[in-house]
Amino acid sequence: MSFYKKLKPVPVWQYFEEICKIPRLSKNEDKIREYLLDFANKNNLDAKEDEIGNILIVKPASPGMENRKTVVLQSHMDMVGEKNADYPHNWMTDPIVTVVTDKWMAAKGTTLGADDGIGIASQMAILTDKKLRAGQIECIFTVDEESGMTGAINLKPGFFTGTILINLDSEDEGILYIGCAGGMDTVGTMKYNAVPVENNSSAIEISVTGLHGGHSGDEIHKGYGNSVKIMNRLLWNLSNEYNISISNFDGGNLRNAIPREAFATIVVDKTSLSKILNRIADFQLILINEMGNIEKDLSITSKESDLPAFVMDSENQARLLDALTCCPHGTIAWSKDMEDLVETSTNLASVKFGAGNTITIVTTQRSSIESSKHDVAAMVESCLKLAGAKVIHSDGYPGWKPNMTSEILKITRQSYVRLFNREPKIRAIHAGLECGLIYENFKSIDMISFGPTIKGAHTPEEKIEIKTVEMFWYLLIDVITRIPYK
Ligand SMILES: [Zn+2]
Repeated sequence: MSFYKKLKPVPVWQYFEEICKIPRLSKNEDKIREYLLDFANKNNLDAKEDEIGNILIVKPASPGMENRKTVVLQSHMDMVGEKNADYPHNWMTDPIVTVVTDKWMAAKGTTLGADDGIGIASQMAILTDKKLRAGQIECIFTVDEESGMTGAINLKPGFFTGTILINLDSEDEGILYIGCAGGMDTVGTMKYNAVPVENNSSAIEISVTGLHGGHSGDEIHKGYGNSVKIMNRLLWNLSNEYNISISNFDGGNLRNAIPREAFATIVVDKTSLSKILNRIADFQLILINEMGNIEKDLSITSKESDLPAFVMDSENQARLLDALTCCPHGTIAWSKDMEDLVETSTNLASVKFGAGNTITIVTTQRSSIESSKHDVAAMVESCLKLAGAKVIHSDGYPGWKPNMTSEILKITRQSYVRLFNREPKIRAIHAGLECGLIYENFKSIDMISFGPTIKGAHTPEEKIEIKTVEMFWYLLIDVITRIPYK
């Protein structure tokens, strides 16, 4: 007998066990799609697929419940495939091997795919629950959430009919999510002229390292240092006091991470070399004093290095340093409706010197209000444009603005209190959820997102807390049975 039979609720875990056997990386959802359509067919449930590959399976209303509003349950079919370097796993063919330890389920060497496999399994358990007395239920399984949300983007009006939607893709038991941020990228590129290095010069290599970094959405308000900002501040100050020329400036890496490290090479007059090295050492003390305990491992070091052949011209250098000084970074606005929610933020993610004397500056903006997202992107664009950069924006994805008077929020909150005898937390996330994209095409839809506790999602440490799956299930069932009349 499979150990899954010992876990509750039995049908959810049994479907999860089956799903774990099906390879389903983003953009490779053929096998899971086939499995879901086959499941619908075997259970005599209406199912359809849209052009992008999303699936809808419908459970008709129980007799006498036809006049209840239709509720939509939504999960995503794909998962992130991350594994430990030494673990052999073929993502196209191999099943996920699950391991249960004490209160948690994890996977051997790989991501577990509880994000969002547990959402899929719960939908399947509801679709086949013979005892459930409820109105019509529409289950949507989207594709490609993890690598571009193209499934949610392409959900078209008419594919489903419900006006209440429960997203099953959040990861904290006890928290009801009612909003998320939209995001976009703003990228500037500028050209400079390469100037040969003069005689009697020395070169200095500077490193800013040891910063915390972190997610540019979830952690933007924590006050962590931005290595690009710190390096730029040092260079801006040095350039006001001494004759310095930048030969290279390389900071940050991923667009959705707060930059942790930055490196620069500058050329200075031989006579001012030691003064500048001292000045850099002083700057480290100033920063340590400013950042306090939040960045204990911050290190700003400098050393004399080999002379490069070229540096950038002084006019463009001044423009670059000014632009990065005025370019905003961090929290721009807090929500007026919800406590402790960052509404709008921007991340100065990276600066890179590239081929053809080109500098690329990458930034990302997030907001739960679409117009505010565009406003902060315009702020960044203006700074970069004043420096002569060419600026482009990505299309980005829209946010989902919290609605404290939402009907589904009221129902879910009441169910939660009734079942668990305590208040749930009501939050929005300063990061993306498919709900933001769904809202774009279905403006009058009433949405909420909740799920069991998952830790370490998108890493081989991903694990799901077993008892919270049962809590999640009872909450979901209770909410579904209390959906109001049309
Ligand atoms: Zn997910």
